Amino acid sequence: MPPHGREATLLPPDHNQGRQPDSTAFMCPYCEAVLSNPGAAQCDSCLRPLPQKGTPVLRVMFPTGELKVSVGQHLVIGRDAGQSPVASTFTQYDNVSRRHSTVWLDPSGTAWVRDEGSTNGTFVNGERLPRGVEAPLRDGDQLRLAADVTGTVQLT
Ligand SMILES: [Zn+2]
Repeated sequence: MPPHGREATLLPPDHNQGRQPDSTAFMCPYCEAVLSNPGAAQCDSCLRPLPQKGTPVLRVMFPTGELKVSVGQHLVIGRDAGQSPVASTFTQYDNVSRRHSTVWLDPSGTAWVRDEGSTNGTFVNGERLPRGVEAPLRDGDQLRLAADVTGTVQLT
């Protein structure tokens, strides 16, 4: 007669406990593996810590449209549809460069902007960024492209 403890180890572990089916694929912002459990503290694949619930979203509200950037996403701002997915927001502005600047949100929740060598400059609260320099963006900052295309940063 086997000891009771041995029988217990033969029971299959309950993998599905506490999980709910989720049709929305959630990807690791680092390695882009699809996560089986979006609430996990770390990625199954690359083992890096994952952004937790309540992860901030960066929005920049321009008069002609709103840009929205999630953690891990880099958004190129510009007038050329081949370079920027939000080009339609800026086509009417001749002084915005074809590839003007990039905004992104890092996994710690800090938002950044970088001028991509634009002709007329990228400005944060009135200060022109040197080309290629990464500058943090905070909630309420004014992000200006060229002389007069101003968006308000919202970090929530
Ligand atoms: Zn990963």
